[in-house]
Amino acid sequence: MVTKMKMRPDARTASSLRRQLILAGIVVVAATAVALMPRAKLPQVGDHWHARYLVVICGKPVPDMPLTRGAIHTQGDGVIHVEPKTRAEAGRNANLGRFFATAGVTFV
Ligand SMILES: [Zn+2]
Repeated sequence: MVTKMKMRPDARTASSLRRQLILAGIVVVAATAVALMPRAKLPQVGDHWHARYLVVICGKPVPDMPLTRGAIHTQGDGVIHVEPKTRAEAGRNANLGRFFATAGVTFV
């Protein structure tokens, strides 16, 4: 006697696999969308940006800082000049922390 068994997909397994494939597809689409999003514009090597600044302590404006050195500096004009020369000074590293550090300013 020969018994034939017809193989049929388990409904729960097929449904679970379908959900996993849909989820994987969504993850791939989302990852691709994030990878293709334009990055926020940040100062890069060779850029020269200006940002006016004002320091106020207890409601009183402090005079402009004198000339400072570095990729992110001021010329005593109330403007921060952002001029990264290396990648280490560019992008997210071109920030106020770097400006104040090279100017010798500390916050206590
Ligand atoms: Zn400048």
